[in-house]
Order: sequence, then C-alpha cells, then structure tokens
Amino acid sequence: MDLKKFVRDVPDFPKDGILFKDLTTLWKSPEALKEAGKKLLELVDNHQIDVVIGIESRGFVFAPMMAVELQAGFVPVRKKGKLPAQTLQAEYALEYGTDVLEIHTDAIKKGDRVLIHDDVLATGGTAAAVVELVQRMGGEVVQCNFIMELGFLNGRGKLQGVPVAALLDY
Ligand code: IMP
Repeated sequence: MDLKKFVRDVPDFPKDGILFKDLTTLWKSPEALKEAGKKLLELVDNHQIDVVIGIESRGFVFAPMMAVELQAGFVPVRKKGKLPAQTLQAEYALEYGTDVLEIHTDAIKKGDRVLIHDDVLATGGTAAAVVELVQRMGGEVVQCNFIMELGFLNGRGKLQGVPVAALLDY
C-alpha cells in the first residue's frame, strides 16, 4: 500500500509559504491506519522496549498502540503547563523564539529502554528536546520513530548518536 497517497498537502498552513503534510487523511482510512501502525512496529525490529513516549499531540495517535503491541508502557511528553504532577522541562527552538516540553519526573526509570514516537520529523528540535529529557532521567533512547521525515530539513543532524527511523521520506 502506498501510504503517501493518504497524506494531504495543505498549502499555507499554519502560515503563508508552508506546505503542511496533513496526516488526518491517513488516520481516517481504516486500511491506511492499520498498515501504518504495522509498519511503524516493523521499524522497531524486535527491540525490547520498556516505555513508548508520544509527543503532544500528533504523537499520541500511534504511541499508545505501539506500546500495547510492544508490551511497554505509554508516557506522554506535553507542552508546558499541561501535566499535573512534578515535571522535568526542556526548552527547544521554534522558528521564532522557544517553547518548553515537559515529562513527569517519575515517568522514566534509570536504565529504561525508551522508544520516542512523533508524527513528523522536521528540523529535529522537538525530538532532540525529548531525547535530552530521557537521557537526563537515565533512560536509553532505543529509537526516535516517525511516520514522516522531511529529509530536506535534516532533522537527523540534531539527533546524532540516536537511531532514527521514519516510514515515509519527503
Ligand atoms: P521539528 O521540531 O522542526 O522537527 O518539528 C516537528 C514537530 O512539528 C512535530 O511535532 C510535528 O507534529 C510538527 N510538524 C512540523 N511540520 C509538520 C507537517 O508538515 N505536518 C505535520 N506536523 C508537522
């Protein structure tokens, strides 16, 4: 199945000049949803995983499903101010300014083997901030896993030393 056929290009979103890759059309198709989930798990390739992190909010679509299949737990990483208990924070660069991501301080134990999942790897700033959080907590990042990679933005450059896998490359 050609999953790229299910990705919708939306010009000028969220602002002029940006061609947004919209995955809601892929998620809506029962066949594409199932196939993408299966293929994402194949990328993990039998690794033993303790925790699957989903990055707010589009990373929450597949991360819990992957966690179930991998017999791992699911942990959300969220934007600042959304998680209720004590958190650890990492700042990352946006096009203009910075933003902050948070994880609960008790979400990762030292030595945990962690899979990080998000929908899209663009410049890599978001995923790099999550890698930093996991490593500060003593976890081992087994893979950063994405549905889609915008290769021309070289997000992998920010994720050196960490295995990176994506289903679709643009
Ligand atoms: P990065 O930090 O530049 O790698 O941006 C990655 C984040 O931006 C991810 O959490 C994505 O959800 C979001 N993102 C960037 N570009 C797109 C896109 O074209 N479609 C969907 N999400 C995107």
